Amino acid sequence: MMHADQPALSAEKRGPILFTNVRIFDGTAKALSAGEVLIQGNRIKKVATGGEKLPRASAEVVDGGGATLMPGLINAHCHMSYTGPQNMGHIPPEEHTLITARQAKIILDHGMTAAVGAGSAKPRLDIAVRNEINAGYIPGPRYLAATPEITVTGGLGDSRQLHMHHNELAHYFDGPHELRRIVREYCREGVDVVKLMISGDHLIPNFCDADQTAMDEDEVAVGTHIAHQRGRTLNCHARNPESIKRAIKYGIQRIYHATLADEESLDLLEANKDKHWIVPALGFTYATAYEAGDFGISPATAEKWGFVDELAKGAETMKKMHKRGIRILPFGDYGFPWTPHGTDTRDFRHFQKMLGFKPYEILRAATAYGAEAFGKPNELGQVKAGYLADLVMLDGNPLEDLDLFLDQANILMIMKDGDFHKALQPIRKVRARQAAE
Ligand SMILES: [Zn+2]
Repeated sequence: MMHADQPALSAEKRGPILFTNVRIFDGTAKALSAGEVLIQGNRIKKVATGGEKLPRASAEVVDGGGATLMPGLINAHCHMSYTGPQNMGHIPPEEHTLITARQAKIILDHGMTAAVGAGSAKPRLDIAVRNEINAGYIPGPRYLAATPEITVTGGLGDSRQLHMHHNELAHYFDGPHELRRIVREYCREGVDVVKLMISGDHLIPNFCDADQTAMDEDEVAVGTHIAHQRGRTLNCHARNPESIKRAIKYGIQRIYHATLADEESLDLLEANKDKHWIVPALGFTYATAYEAGDFGISPATAEKWGFVDELAKGAETMKKMHKRGIRILPFGDYGFPWTPHGTDTRDFRHFQKMLGFKPYEILRAATAYGAEAFGKPNELGQVKAGYLADLVMLDGNPLEDLDLFLDQANILMIMKDGDFHKALQPIRKVRARQAAE
């Protein structure tokens, strides 16, 4: 539903669009196929490859000029409201809402047409911005609004100090009784996703390190019970084996990090690989280890805190998971000062270099598997008849150049729900290459 003031023609009013002369990455295939794609309303009506022509009559024909057409990217670990460099707890809600709305546009501008909230920096930021996006007032990806990071006293996100009041990101609790109320309250407010911080982390070695489990089992049991009872899904921060096993036992769909998984937790993940998606967010670990010097974390400090070790261990664990067919997804934890929104696709290179993923496996994880983690495996993440028309067009072949998404000039077109967020731009690189051949 578009707002009446919106000047662009919405998918509801516009006639069919036929993209011709495009090379299609369908979300799962190992190579591109030349073809045509017909859009009707907000859905993909037909896809033709192998020289088949779709009927031109009554459709607006858009010549793709040999560009790549592929599904929009799907981020299963998105902190839309995270920003920097200021302490996020100290940003007043009014400013923070505007920042979140601005970042929603940045995310969509980089070809990400859907995202799962991974923790909201204030209780209603995700909810409010999602509602504005869905109403058509502001641009942004399809979005599942999350709770803040829900953590126990002394867990990741609790940086309080006695006698020193300051606002922080997380929502703290202790005990099942408190958590029951908190999760019910967020469901009432309208979240889609509940985020639980089960394990500790290197960021807080003095309180609760990554190999320690912060949240007790009775707490995880109650939090997941209420979320499931109200039809919500869950994310969790879980680095060590115990926290991963807890996430599996209580049906938490998206497991963030999982970097210290042992053989037993890997066996369990493999046995349940259709129910869980792993988002390691190694890009954050990498950037913290080597690139956060300007923000007070020198490489020496990062190494002392365990980030270099964590990166190596995490990469080894992910390689084992990949061999077992466990779904590992890129993106995650962009939005910190040293990992700004819009640079998320740096993860493509990390997956190639650190985890040995093939380019098509990376793009499949960023589209078709992302759609599974988003909860719409039969409607998003593939260029397929009947699927929602969330598409991007690229000047180049993303299977050959994993950095294409990092430069917005390479993103020639962005369509979400059948509407153009970015109308087709002139193609340069592909044309130049064709002329040279
Ligand atoms: Zn996160």
